[in-house]
Amino acid sequence: MGLKPITEKERASFEAFARANPRVCDDLPVTLPSGFLVEDFNPECASCGQDIPSSAAWLKRDRMVFAHKTVETWEVRGVCRTCATMTPCYMRFHSDGHFDTIIGRNWRRGDLDESTSPVARIAAAIRKLFC
Ligand SMILES: [Zn+2]
Repeated sequence: MGLKPITEKERASFEAFARANPRVCDDLPVTLPSGFLVEDFNPECASCGQDIPSSAAWLKRDRMVFAHKTVETWEVRGVCRTCATMTPCYMRFHSDGHFDTIIGRNWRRGDLDESTSPVARIAAAIRKLFC
């Protein structure tokens, strides 16, 4: 997940994305294919590490259904209110509860486990991938 300072070209691309997709706060809560309920999601700014509020992030969701598996993809673009950097984020949530997220050029895998509090689970699981 590289840094994305907003240039004119990126601003135009981001504005088109924001026009075509709802804000994260307007789309949640969402139930993932595994039955996991996402009540809130705050992407972390790739530049300064601040949480980006769900009202400043836009979400494009797609679902692919195979014979016995469902995969839901999330493409998120958030704008940090502290440093005005745009952070893109891409995730695939699988019906067995694991998810992959692309960081830099590599896919990383995480699991949504049941042990932590429901609201913080996804954010914590994703944050772990960066440590
Ligand atoms: Zn920031």
